[in-house]
Amino acid sequence: MPKARKKGPAPKKARKAVPRARAKPRKARFRPTPALAAEILDILEATHPEARCALDYRTPFELSVATILSAQCTDERVNKVTPALFDRFPTAAALAEAPPAEVEGLIRSTGFFRSKAKSIIGFSRGLLEHHGGEIPRSVEAMRKLPGVGRKTANVVLGHAYGINEGIAVDTHVLRVTNRLGVARGQDPLEVERQLMALVPVERYTRTTDLFIFHGRKICDARRPRCGACPLFGLCRFQDKKAWAAKTAPGDPVSQPDI
Ligand code: SF4
Repeated sequence: MPKARKKGPAPKKARKAVPRARAKPRKARFRPTPALAAEILDILEATHPEARCALDYRTPFELSVATILSAQCTDERVNKVTPALFDRFPTAAALAEAPPAEVEGLIRSTGFFRSKAKSIIGFSRGLLEHHGGEIPRSVEAMRKLPGVGRKTANVVLGHAYGINEGIAVDTHVLRVTNRLGVARGQDPLEVERQLMALVPVERYTRTTDLFIFHGRKICDARRPRCGACPLFGLCRFQDKKAWAAKTAPGDPVSQPDI
């Protein structure tokens, strides 16, 4: 005879163990290495041996002024105005005393000509006052001069004196390094810091020249030529296959003929 159940709340039924869905394995975040950066730079060096600073200059002073003028402007445009500017004001002493209106007229086509005239005159005065008209040889000293940011200081020190203190990061360097995956973000100072952790000091200046050249010749902002790029196999740009096949979204080449 079955035992009578004692009075009280009914015992809970044992729950069946439901197998938990397995969590998807997390993709490890890609981390660029110095070896990858070296491989990329070696390929770029072989591809663009002619890469150099595209600004025309004869002295460190001229390079400094030309670099200040190149903000928001192409190097070709700057090269068109600097010969007349340096004919008229060949030294820091001459430019420091220049009438602003005359300087503005000479550099007008580079854009933002009023603030640029103010910058290069102020830069020349600072150079005279603190360095006897000579370009100083450190980023720190350069940056104390009016109109000079870290990019300008790196460009001038690297090209005029062969001093590698930092990596100049412009719009081309930002774009190409982000697409390749060797840097992340749109802050030039942060990207410079990331690149400096990957690239040996002696390659700093070349790094800028090579990425800029590659950005101009192949890794164009709007139409990268991924199909002709020697870095295709190393690049992490997600649209590279589409661009290589000329079917990238918005690319007129991919639009059907109607
Ligand atoms: S594969 Fe394309 S996106 Fe990548 S570096 Fe080359 S051109 Fe630029």
